[in-house]
Amino acid sequence: MHDCLFCKIQKGEIPADIVFQDDDLIAFRDVNPQAPTHVLIIPRQHIATVNDIAGSDETIMGKLFSAAKIIAAQEGVSDDGYRLVVNCNAQAGQTVFHIHMHLLAGRNLSWPPG
Ligand code: AMP
Repeated sequence: MHDCLFCKIQKGEIPADIVFQDDDLIAFRDVNPQAPTHVLIIPRQHIATVNDIAGSDETIMGKLFSAAKIIAAQEGVSDDGYRLVVNCNAQAGQTVFHIHMHLLAGRNLSWPPG
């Protein structure tokens, strides 16, 4: 997608603080962190929202969780705990329409979320 911010980040056209990457996905620190650790994990492939996930995307979606586990260990938050969030569309607060998983950690996270 030409105009997609996260496509540009995964192609290296826009800088980001990358914490993990492989052939299928890339993870970088959120520019406006909501917790001491706030990482976004995205597939390299453009998928706009959870509503756009196809059956053939199940493997890459699973890889997002595997990456989250690795990044949590890297960040030293595995034992204390962390939250994984995927916002879908406007009412959930999605602002970037390239699917992404938030990994939040480093403080007590209240429930229910706002
Ligand atoms: P969401 O509201 O779920 O769509 O999350 C989008 C996230 O992307 C927000 O937390 C933003 O702070 C973050 N964000 C926007 N632009 C950038 C950027 N250039 N680099 C890193 N994170 C960004």
